[in-house]
Amino acid sequence: MGHKSWLGLLLLLFTTIATGGIALADGETSPARDPKQPIDEAYTAKIRKYTTAPYFSSPLVDYLPASKSVPTPEVVLGDVAGAPGILPYAEDVYKYMRLLEKATPRVKVVSIGTTEEGREMIAVAVSSEANLKNLELNRQRLAKLADPRTIHLDDAEAEKLVAESVPVYYITGTIHSPETGAPTALMELAYRLAVDESPYVRDIRDGVITLITPVVEVDGRDRMVDIYKWHLAHPKDFYPPLIYWGKYVAHDNNRDAMGMTLKLTQNVLNTYLAWNAQVLHDLHESVPYLYDNTVGDAPYNAWVDPILVDEWQMIGARNVADLTKFGMPGVFTHGDFDTWSPGYLMFLAAMHNGISRLYETFGNGGADTRERTLEPGEYGRTWYRPNPPLPKALWSQRNNNNYEETGLLTSLHYFNENKRLFLKNFYLKGKRSIQKPSAEGPAAYVFPADDPRASVQADLLRVMLKQHVEISRATSSFHVSLPAKKEKKTGKSGDSGEKPKPASPTSRDFPAGSYVIRMDQPYSRVADALLDYQFWSPEDPQTTPYDDTAWTFGELFGVQVTRVTDSKVLSVPMERVTELRSFGGVQGEGPVFAIDNHAEPALATLRYHLKDATIEAAEEPFQSGDHKFSRGTFLIRGVGRSDLDAAAKSLGLNVVALSSAPGVKTHPVRAPRIAYVHTWISTQSEGWWRLALDNLQIPYDYMSTQALTKIPDLNAKYDVILFPPVTGNTSANAIVQGTPTAWGNALPWLNTPETPNLVGKYDSTPDMRPGLGWDGVAKLQSFARNGGVLLTAIDTSQLAISIGLANGVTFSSSEKLKIVGSIVGTRLVDTASPIAYGYDEKVSAYCDNGPIFSVNSMLGSRRRRLGPEMNTRPTGRGTKDDPDFVIGRPASEVPDEPEKELWEAPQPTDDQSFNNPRVIPPANRARVILRYADSKDLPISGLVENGNEIAQHPAVLDVPSGSGHVVLFSINPVYRGETENTYSLVLNTLMNFDSLNVGRKEADEK
Ligand SMILES: [Zn+2]
Repeated sequence: MGHKSWLGLLLLLFTTIATGGIALADGETSPARDPKQPIDEAYTAKIRKYTTAPYFSSPLVDYLPASKSVPTPEVVLGDVAGAPGILPYAEDVYKYMRLLEKATPRVKVVSIGTTEEGREMIAVAVSSEANLKNLELNRQRLAKLADPRTIHLDDAEAEKLVAESVPVYYITGTIHSPETGAPTALMELAYRLAVDESPYVRDIRDGVITLITPVVEVDGRDRMVDIYKWHLAHPKDFYPPLIYWGKYVAHDNNRDAMGMTLKLTQNVLNTYLAWNAQVLHDLHESVPYLYDNTVGDAPYNAWVDPILVDEWQMIGARNVADLTKFGMPGVFTHGDFDTWSPGYLMFLAAMHNGISRLYETFGNGGADTRERTLEPGEYGRTWYRPNPPLPKALWSQRNNNNYEETGLLTSLHYFNENKRLFLKNFYLKGKRSIQKPSAEGPAAYVFPADDPRASVQADLLRVMLKQHVEISRATSSFHVSLPAKKEKKTGKSGDSGEKPKPASPTSRDFPAGSYVIRMDQPYSRVADALLDYQFWSPEDPQTTPYDDTAWTFGELFGVQVTRVTDSKVLSVPMERVTELRSFGGVQGEGPVFAIDNHAEPALATLRYHLKDATIEAAEEPFQSGDHKFSRGTFLIRGVGRSDLDAAAKSLGLNVVALSSAPGVKTHPVRAPRIAYVHTWISTQSEGWWRLALDNLQIPYDYMSTQALTKIPDLNAKYDVILFPPVTGNTSANAIVQGTPTAWGNALPWLNTPETPNLVGKYDSTPDMRPGLGWDGVAKLQSFARNGGVLLTAIDTSQLAISIGLANGVTFSSSEKLKIVGSIVGTRLVDTASPIAYGYDEKVSAYCDNGPIFSVNSMLGSRRRRLGPEMNTRPTGRGTKDDPDFVIGRPASEVPDEPEKELWEAPQPTDDQSFNNPRVIPPANRARVILRYADSKDLPISGLVENGNEIAQHPAVLDVPSGSGHVVLFSINPVYRGETENTYSLVLNTLMNFDSLNVGRKEADEK
């Protein structure tokens, strides 16, 4: 049945129920156009022409109301929104929004900041003339609801404000650049909201302020439109995949809501909070036909208020019902998106007392109309998808726009119908955030003033400030009691019948100047979520986590964070800080300057900053006067005290002037020349590395695997080749071969007349297909052989092993191991290695399932696993620990297996060594810097299942290769701006590239 006849029936039903002359009650405004308002006939005809079947539309969008004064999107697009072949650049979208603003008092456009490449981001407010006139007064009312402290948590006052306020519903489009439909849908939506006089749309306009950022990833949008134009100019060719979206990251750009490293995240959050919006609704396009993942699947994030969970259910269920009633197929909620990670852009709202929403509609990755054939998993009927999408359908961008606009209009209408409830909830969620200390707790998180990693502590606190979290600084020292840690009951086997010891409560003193994040503030929720620990049960029925399962920022930054439940902490004298105090600089007198090494990334910045200074690293710990200095301490000469003081202050580093140089062995700390290598397969993982290096102001030459191959003498130009992970699971074969060139056409990533924005400032190639190639493999080999250092991680480490650059190292993939973006324990094995400088024995690291490295002392043999199962004796005489016997001859002595730990290379036996050129000499064996912790110490935060597969295996390896080194990472040390704790493992490798053998022990090996 077509939706029109269905709607007729519905209307008939309403008119039958409603008694004559009485208007429809609130919530029953009919979703139909106003018959008295003329429609734009030509525009409407095109909407219908581009919609591939009537049921892919709704009575809300199958026409366009006409206006004498307000231009339709056609004036900018040259056709209707969603027309085939048309994708506007961001500036065209803005041009239209500003035309709207000029033409009607119902639209207001504001600039909300710029991108990394300097392009503008905007927000468009659409509401009634009166609402936009009273924006400031309304904002003041909403601000009081957002921060209930301003009205002393007075519910009666809140009721009054709720009754008077107009809520704000914030919609964001095309953060994922290949998901291209939102900008035109939002142009047309803005027009409809401003012009349509139907009671349904008038309700929305009068009752809600709709705020729209039509393009979130502006840099990526312009590149995507370029690609699409290239496609239109070469319709028969394959067109290049969008390898760069924004400057740094691609799809991960909506996984930045914790780290807040990208401008788009900062701009959206600042806008969301400045407008005191209640909803943040982000538009995506990867699931047919409209998946409202707002409700999602378990497990839900543990820090969201149950009030929000209820709002998700209400909004999600009603949204599906509304569109289903229009006869639109394939609209559903729940689905396989779990709502655990708070890293997504829309989750900014969930973490700031609002409502997070996300749509996946169905996009064609451009504006072509295409026959789309779905997978059984997509068109299958299931409990949450009783009306699934069609297995096969002709699909157009207009269809996509119809779904987006219909979903949004019904959402806005439902939101308006229930706005008093949602506003009251908004206030309540804020109030409950403020009441956190006396409700569920904790009372505060404390960052001690004496944290040796002060500059990293400052970086973490800056993330909190970007989250609009209030930070205070204690003006005196204080004392809090900490809850007693309960002793775990021992398992069955170890049950000795003894009762667990009663745990005694502990306490802690904090010095004056310690930072306190109080939980009696409106945004306590986000601080609590980011600083607390996560536990994802291996028994959880959700077996495929959608994203990372852990993010504990104190662990990932390597900063001391104490969760304090003792409410006394709230009465400690303290002052609010809106900007972190500058600290660091030179203390004491003397010609030699020392900076103790605590693996602060700022040390690398200082090294590059002080180009002409002589910096050396102490190879052993030492003491000078009262000061104890750790291994790796920087000893600086050849720089004026005032220059050093200024540099150290800007970086938050503490410098001690010494009267004389300590009598300790040193080696130079260098500022190496870095070749930074990316593939044409994916730039996302490396993008996070690039972002970290740029923030640290570490220069590098950025080049593709193709360009690397063309450099005649790599050793003459570079000291280190940095080859960050590709995707984490790209095969060596794919990195070497690239995309086949035996068929198809060249895929250019170049500035052409059709692609003026494509290259950006980064890299270009006439054909993205060729990979590193065998020439490139040879280049990497000779670079290491001739003394260079190659640093790799995860899949590029697997490449290095596969092409024979890491003798004696093998890797395997996990079988049952499940570490899904979790934080795991690692242990320093070789404290004397310069790579380990500044670290304590225990290092928390981000891990996503390995790879699992093993080291051996012989080529071509796999390490024997000497687990307890290998040491059991065969069936025979005696007890388990007795020697066996053989009848008729004296027992022979069994030689002891040389005991080696799992992360170590086993020593070859005499027999194995005999005439065996495959035994690797000790000096050429892999040096284990860091290993994974024992099984029981592996989980720190998030999911760790069957951790024994990777427990104790090497996590960071330094492998001699020729006269150079290959450094391999199994963890990802640089990830999403969240892992500052492990940055220095990379930076230490860079700065000590020509001294990596320092502290190597090989005397006891043969
Ligand atoms: Zn997406």
